Amino acid sequence: MAVIVQKFGGTSLADVDKIKNVANAVVREKKLGNDVIVVVSAMGHTTDNLIKLAHEISKNPSDREMDMLMSTGEQVSIALLTMAIHELGFDAVSMTGAQVGILTEDTHSKARILDIRKDKLEEQIKAGKIVIVAGFQGVTKKGEITTLGRGGSDTSAVAIAAKMQVERCDIYSDVEGIYTTDPRIVPTAKKLKEISYEEMLELASLGANVLHPRSVETAKQFKVPMRLRSSFKLDDLGTLVIGVEQMEIYKPVTGLACDKSQVRVVICDVPDRPGNASKLFTLLAKHELSVDMIIQSYARSTNNSNDIAFTINKDDLTKFVGMKEEIMSILNPSNIHIDEDIAKISIVGAGMIDRPGIAAQMFETLAKEGINIKMIATSEIKISCLVEKMYAKEAVSALCKSFELEGEDVALVHGTLPD
Ligand code: ADP
Ligand code: ASP
Ligand code: MG
Repeated sequence: MAVIVQKFGGTSLADVDKIKNVANAVVREKKLGNDVIVVVSAMGHTTDNLIKLAHEISKNPSDREMDMLMSTGEQVSIALLTMAIHELGFDAVSMTGAQVGILTEDTHSKARILDIRKDKLEEQIKAGKIVIVAGFQGVTKKGEITTLGRGGSDTSAVAIAAKMQVERCDIYSDVEGIYTTDPRIVPTAKKLKEISYEEMLELASLGANVLHPRSVETAKQFKVPMRLRSSFKLDDLGTLVIGVEQMEIYKPVTGLACDKSQVRVVICDVPDRPGNASKLFTLLAKHELSVDMIIQSYARSTNNSNDIAFTINKDDLTKFVGMKEEIMSILNPSNIHIDEDIAKISIVGAGMIDRPGIAAQMFETLAKEGINIKMIATSEIKISCLVEKMYAKEAVSALCKSFELEGEDVALVHGTLPD
C-alpha cells in the first residue's frame, strides 16, 4: 500500500466544521487504499494568540518557555482531528513531535530537524491506523521541546515524507494552488500547474508565505513529490512542485513575491579595513539574526570608509536594536540608520538564466511608475528591489502586467506552449 502524507494548515482547521471537513479529506484518501500520515498546524490564529498572551506577561519571554507554549497549539489540533476521524468510524491515533521522535537541533524557536524515527510511525501504520502528527514541533536529544519557526508545519510534513519515502506529500491550504503572486493581493494572479523547487524556494524565501522555505529545500534535496492544493476543493490537483530539469520553460518570470516584513539597516561610514564585515556578520550570527540583501558601498577616499546595508526581519528588530551599542563600539560607524518603511518586491524564474534584459525590464517598469528603488539584489533566478512601502501595490501590479503574470491559468506543462 502506498503511504501518503497530507498536511493541513491553520486556516483549514480554524473551527469545528473545518476540522470535520479535514477528517473527511483524510478518510477519502484512506478509502482510496492508501496509508495516511497527517501533519497538522494549530487551529486558525492560535499561535498568534499564544504569542500575544506571552507578551502580555513578559516583554522578553525565554525562548524555551515560548516553545513550550507555542507547541501546545498543534497538540489541540491532533487530538480534535483524531476524534473527528474516530467519529467517521476509522482508526486513528494522534502523536506529538516527541512521540514520533522528530529529533531537532538544540536551538529554540527556529530548530532544524536532524532525524525522524521511522519505527514509531511504521508501528502505527502496520496496525492499520491513520497517524495524526503535530507539525511545527520536535524534541532535542535531551528531551527539550522545540519549534521549527513560523509556518514550520510544512517542513514537518515534508521531512516525514522524505524519511518515510512516501508516494506523495500533499500540502492542503486555503488557496487552490501556487499562483504567480499572492492571489489575495492580486486577484487576477495566474494559478500555476507546476513550479520548480528552485523557483518555489526563491518565492517562499522572498516572502510568499504559502510554503515554509525549509519545506521546499527539504523536498528538493530528497526529491519529495509535493503538491499544494485546496482543503475546500478536494478534486482540484492544485500545483505540483518538481525539479527544474523536468520542466519546459517558456517564460523568463514565473512568479512575484512582495515582502513587507523586512527592515533595512545601514551601518554608515564603517572604516575600510579588512575584517570589519566579518566582525559585523559574526556578531549578527551569534545572536541568530538572519540577514538578506547585503550591500557594501564603494569606499570613499575622503574618509576611507564605506556603508554596509542589509535587511533583517521585522521580528528581529528589537534584538537588533539591543545590539546597536555593541556594533557602535566594535565598528565605530558614524551612524546606524534603520528604515522600516520598505517592501521587497522580487521576480523569480528559472527562465531568467541566460536571458539578458530581465533586470532592465524590471527597473524600467518601476521607473515608468515613478517608483524609486532603494536597494537591488540578484541571484541566478531572482531579482529583488526594495521600494517604499506605499508603492508596493503599484509596483506589484505594474510588474505583473509587464511580465504577463495575470490572467487565466497558464500551462507550464511539458510540451505545451502557452499561446
Ligand atoms: P496555511 O494555514 O494553510 O499554512 P498560509 O497562510 O501559511 O496557510 O499560506 C497560504 C496563504 O499564502 C494564502 O492564503 C495566500 O494569501 C498566501 N500566498 C502568498 N503568496 C502566494 C502564492 N504565490 N500563491 C498562493 N498563495 C500565496
Ligand atoms: N502554527 C505554527 C504557526 O502558526 C506553524 C504552522 O502553522 O505551520 O506558525
Ligand atoms: Mg503555512
